[in-house]
Amino acid sequence: MAGQDWRGRGPDLMLGELKKRLEERQGRIFFGTQAMALRMASGHCTGVTARDQNGETAFGGGAVVIADGGFPGSADLFRRHIGPHPERVLQRHAGSARGDGLRMAEAAGAALARLDRFYGHLLSRDAMQNEGLWPYPQIDAVATAGIVVDASGQRLLDEGLGGISITNDLARLDDPLCATVICDAAIWESAGRAAQIPPNPQLEKGGGTLHRADTIAALAAKAGISPERLSETVTAYNAAVRSGALVLLAPPRSTRGGSPKPIETAPFFAISICPGITNTMGGIAIDGHGRVKRPDHSVIDGLYAAGGSTGGLEGGGALGYVGGLIKACVFGFRVAEHAAARRRLSC
Ligand SMILES: Cc1cc2nc3c(=O)[nH]c(=O)nc-3n(C[C@H](O)[C@H](O)[C@H](O)COP(=O)(O)OP(=O)(O)OC[C@H]3O[C@@H](n4cnc5c(N)ncnc54)[C@H](O)[C@@H]3O)c2cc1C
Repeated sequence: MAGQDWRGRGPDLMLGELKKRLEERQGRIFFGTQAMALRMASGHCTGVTARDQNGETAFGGGAVVIADGGFPGSADLFRRHIGPHPERVLQRHAGSARGDGLRMAEAAGAALARLDRFYGHLLSRDAMQNEGLWPYPQIDAVATAGIVVDASGQRLLDEGLGGISITNDLARLDDPLCATVICDAAIWESAGRAAQIPPNPQLEKGGGTLHRADTIAALAAKAGISPERLSETVTAYNAAVRSGALVLLAPPRSTRGGSPKPIETAPFFAISICPGITNTMGGIAIDGHGRVKRPDHSVIDGLYAAGGSTGGLEGGGALGYVGGLIKACVFGFRVAEHAAARRRLSC
């Protein structure tokens, strides 16, 4: 289904089960308690200061693990590291990861890595107002098979790099909400149906806008795009697809996300899109055990980071992505093993 279809059947159940198992092993969880600052002594991390409804509390500990999910929920950090208008980017996440760990680690002398890239997807622009259109359906596959244009009818970016790359490119613009995907019936019936929760037919079922017309000029008029310019763009694009001269287009079109298809079979479709941020790829620099590193590559004793709060494994120019859950689970486990061994040694 389009929209938010997880209650009672997904992560809420898993987190409940994990809480139960932790408490069975005498673990304690403090809900409604926000870690604010690291407690440091002679370059070692010795605990955290946290805030709850009763005020500040100090937690001591042999190891502190920062695992707050990164900074997708911080407009300030988004502006500083990613793009100028977070309010014009769909916040495709829970809102709980606000960069507290990044700020705490930086204040303790940690190195930060590759903060400029994020994991996210393209969604209908209507998702900015309609909760039924996020986190799904994603428009990525249609955008990668078709073209992405602005209101003047010009292509904006290299669609062939795939949905995550297009999302990052749009989020950096002065107007991240300027883009429209154009495709034809052949793309809409193939790429449009390819995903698990595909835009064809979930976009319209969720209340999203889908423009359709029998000519490109008529489609442009419906979608608020210059008809002459869009017709020229599509003609040039189709010619380049047929002749294999995609690198000569401006901007050039690569083929990493699959072989591009001509836009030639009526009816034609237009979807106004928005970039959606799910989680940040950059963050606190760590070693293979999840120990937090300083800029000189030494580690801060007693301080670890895992999952979405960390940086260095993902991102970069080619936008490498390993998966947010695998990063959280693998490094959560690595950190636990190291912290437990360190504790055994000190006993
Ligand atoms: C809609 C959606 C779909 C996704 N799909 C996939 C997918 O298919 N595959 C995949 O691999 N990943 C997916 N992800 C990404 C994945 O969910 C995250 O990468 C992963 O949950 C990160 O785990 P984490 O433990 O690092 O952080 P989180 O799961 O964000 O947990 C961090 C916790 O820290 C808490 N916290 C934050 N600040 C503080 C503070 N100051 N003090 C105390 N606690 C704090 C938060 O409340 C939260 O409970 C998806 C994410 C979303 C939103």
